[in-house]
Amino acid sequence: MKYVSTRGKAPVLNFEEAMLTGLARDGGLYLPETIPTMTSDEIAALSGLPYEEVAFRVMKPYIGDTFADDEFKEIIAKAYAGFGHAARAPMVQLGDNHFLLELFHGPTLAFKDFAMQLIGQMFQASLKRSGNRVTIAGATSGDTGSAAMEAFKGLDAVDVFILYPHGRVSEVQRRQMTTPADSNVHALAVDGHFDDCQARVKDMFNDFDFRDGVRLAGVNSINFARVLAQVVYYFTSAVSLGAPHRKVSFTVPTGNFGDIFAGYIAKQMGLPIDRLVVATNQNDILHRCLSTGEYRPDGVEPSISPSMDIQVSSNFERALYYAYDQDGAAVSQLMDELKAGGFTVSQGALQKLQALFDSGNCSEDETSATIKNFFDTTGELLCPHSAIGVKVAEEKRDASVPMITLATAHPAKFPAAVEAASGQHPALPARMADLFERDERVTRIGNDLAALEALIKERIAQ
Ligand SMILES: *Cc1c(COP(=O)(O)O)cnc(C)c1O
Repeated sequence: MKYVSTRGKAPVLNFEEAMLTGLARDGGLYLPETIPTMTSDEIAALSGLPYEEVAFRVMKPYIGDTFADDEFKEIIAKAYAGFGHAARAPMVQLGDNHFLLELFHGPTLAFKDFAMQLIGQMFQASLKRSGNRVTIAGATSGDTGSAAMEAFKGLDAVDVFILYPHGRVSEVQRRQMTTPADSNVHALAVDGHFDDCQARVKDMFNDFDFRDGVRLAGVNSINFARVLAQVVYYFTSAVSLGAPHRKVSFTVPTGNFGDIFAGYIAKQMGLPIDRLVVATNQNDILHRCLSTGEYRPDGVEPSISPSMDIQVSSNFERALYYAYDQDGAAVSQLMDELKAGGFTVSQGALQKLQALFDSGNCSEDETSATIKNFFDTTGELLCPHSAIGVKVAEEKRDASVPMITLATAHPAKFPAAVEAASGQHPALPARMADLFERDERVTRIGNDLAALEALIKERIAQ
């Protein structure tokens, strides 16, 4: 399997190279040259299998010969062994033909664990083989950083540095980043906003001496290996509701378009998905773009669903690539226009996007009201992100087609917003009930590239 860039000008890579590279050199995102398909019989045969076995069958065609079958099975087994639920991604019913897919049973209580745990093991296996070490640097507004540190902690071929904005993440998120004791993971509290953290990480990647010197690698959501890991739970959930013999729809709380794009891949692979519904918070650029074709960022308004407070949705580029019939030059042009303020999707491309995706948005008040309403009527306590999905799903769904809404985080990850909405204090699962007693380890640092680079060099030399 070959991987090509959405902008058409970067070297064609194999899976392992694309995974270790992350962002393509032409600024684009890697995608498989062709999307492998599964027959109806192959999909039917997934019914009743353990999550890990479905993961193996769905992902195998994408990884080529990067890992032998036994090794890949072992990687998958290790990735999901730390989950707090035997089903990994269990489903509960919310109402008539409406189901909630709980993706929050991983070690940091958000769906990002599904991908991060897997790529942690894949990086480790690949680097062990080559004898190389890498340094991973990432910026986080909360969930990505904690998932990355959990996934890579204790792995000896990797050092991880996570930059987060000091004082601007929830206490649970902060503690998840500052309490791992392993010496290869480093939480850096930066005096600045999330955008500053993101900008400094970008600066590090653009400082080629530094980048090559420390062998810098990225694991943000543009890494195709992360998208791939997320394709799996579309299969497990749809099959458990009767696919391939019955169609299902999905609603996905969306920020960077990574999770919903995994649904698009599942559909192209042959899974009978009727509608893919994009749910946004008040930062609704994706909803506006899918409705009107206009993509113009106009500043982020902080919300109670912080992991969706995004205006530049990086994985949307992948959907545009397909909507423009895999024309890298056209995508490149749109991205240049975006740098200058925004772009308008062509009529033909917009029709293709609208044929695949529905969309809706949810205000702050509606988010809180949904948390309260669903707790009162079903006993299910939703995190704010999941509540946005449930609200939009209720509006958009066709009663005759089962709707699966993705629950992207555990309510205990956002206790203040959940308690304010419902009057219920969401308890942490027993396996992490001592989070508030664990020792914290963090380095406070200025918003300064030279200081950050010096610190990273010093730490990895130890
Ligand atoms: C990251 C995240 C999202 C958004 O996912 P994307 O793949 O960026 O669209 C939604 N909810 C939670 C809890 C998240 O952590």
